[in-house]
Amino acid sequence: MGVSTEQRIQIYNSLSGSKEEFTPIHNQMVGMYVCGPTVYNNVHLGNCRTFISFDIIFRYLKHLGYKVRYVRNITDAGHLENDADEGEDRIAKKARIEEIEPMEVVQKYTVDFHRTLAKFNTLPPSIEPTATGHIVEQIELVKQIMDAGYGYEVDGSVYFDVLKFNESSAYGKLSGRKLEDMIHNTRETSGQSEKRNPQDFALWKKAQPEHIMRWPSPWSDGFPGWHLECTAMSTKYLGNQFDIHGGGMDLKFPHHECEIAQGEAISNCSPANYWIHANMLTLNGKKMAKSTGNNILPNEIFSGENDIMDRPFSPAVTRFFMLQAHYRSVLDISNDAMLASEKGFSKLMHGLSILESLATAKETTGFDVAKWKQKCYIAMNDDFNTPILIANLFDAVKFVQNVNDGRESITKGDLDELGSSLNNFVHDVLGLTQEEQKVDHYLENSLNLLIELRNDARNRKDFATSDKIRDELAKAGILLQDGAQETTYTLKK
Ligand code: AMP
Ligand code: ZN
Repeated sequence: MGVSTEQRIQIYNSLSGSKEEFTPIHNQMVGMYVCGPTVYNNVHLGNCRTFISFDIIFRYLKHLGYKVRYVRNITDAGHLENDADEGEDRIAKKARIEEIEPMEVVQKYTVDFHRTLAKFNTLPPSIEPTATGHIVEQIELVKQIMDAGYGYEVDGSVYFDVLKFNESSAYGKLSGRKLEDMIHNTRETSGQSEKRNPQDFALWKKAQPEHIMRWPSPWSDGFPGWHLECTAMSTKYLGNQFDIHGGGMDLKFPHHECEIAQGEAISNCSPANYWIHANMLTLNGKKMAKSTGNNILPNEIFSGENDIMDRPFSPAVTRFFMLQAHYRSVLDISNDAMLASEKGFSKLMHGLSILESLATAKETTGFDVAKWKQKCYIAMNDDFNTPILIANLFDAVKFVQNVNDGRESITKGDLDELGSSLNNFVHDVLGLTQEEQKVDHYLENSLNLLIELRNDARNRKDFATSDKIRDELAKAGILLQDGAQETTYTLKK
């Protein structure tokens, strides 16, 4: 299948600070790199928001017919506690605390990450490389950067020379910072650091004797700097220049700024054409983060075991909640917001469930399906605007409900078109799934009461009431079956 030529996507590019028409380097193919998690703890809901945001982009590009190579790494070494190349390796620290091997930490939290994202129905990336699986490539990269004159060695460690880089290309162009300001705002640490300038960053660090995650290199037994792995893996699988690079907003600086510097140092071209940054999920108005304790884990939402929500919410409702905000907007999670999302989600799913049983008419329908469909595409083409898409989906659901109630009519051809488009947008593009409907005891008790009232009405030969109960329940997707002994019900999927 070719790429739909009708749909032209506008992407907000963090590098230019404006929306730009998306033109991939290789016609029908897209190369996309997204920074993955550092696997030293369970992913919190904020992390999931970022990965869901990119899942939507991946899904939409595929939906349009692009062949997408989506690379999302696993950081399993090199990410120190402090962004300024200081502190312990996060994974090694966790291994020390839990008294297990670093690779046990990595295994445990990688499995948790995959399981969690699968619950949210995110598609796996095309390639999921690990930092420890690419040490050779990272050492090669350090050599290339040194050969190009941008790296220097001090006592077994190698640093990137930011000042030198800034002579030919602005360091800070992604995050909107100026190197002079950074220098001006940095406190004097002379004598404490082996870096020539505090803005320089580590490409390779010599391991202290207690540092267990170490590899041999031409400079020392050590480990790669955090920013290096993403350049090594993105260039290996997508080339020196590829289409999209993404991550959470908080990775713009220093991580992505350093990736740009490394990429430009080895190839004289900016690594990615479009830089996409997903905004933060907040809780109580503050960024959700592991370090501050201001976070909620996905499983705590699903089980209801948390202090924030009154009751559990499913992964699909949680995903729907996230998609109701644009990926570049801050989103605050709360009990009320989740309750509203749950209502909206079940309205959407109910609309989908009654599609098949709609009666069609000969006369023209009161809904312009082609125009509606184009509005859905316009929303997604405008920087993947899921809230506008969802508003359009609700317009269609309202119409479907009206047809169901006999207030509107639809032709067979329009119904087929509307049905397939709705299903495509809901399932393929938004990745929302119909959940197994659980009959909770409230519903069960209410249904048993209605069946009892209907039986009473039938015994009184009040068929108007008994039929009304049966028909109204059927409209709501609850089908009654009268057996010889008793009346049972099934929920329509
Ligand atoms: P980390 O494992 O800390 O590298 O984070 C993995 C991804 O989650 C990164 O792209 C972060 O930018 C992103 N992230 C971290 N906190 C949040 C948050 N509160 N909301 C959205 N994304 C986040
Ligand atoms: Zn990265």
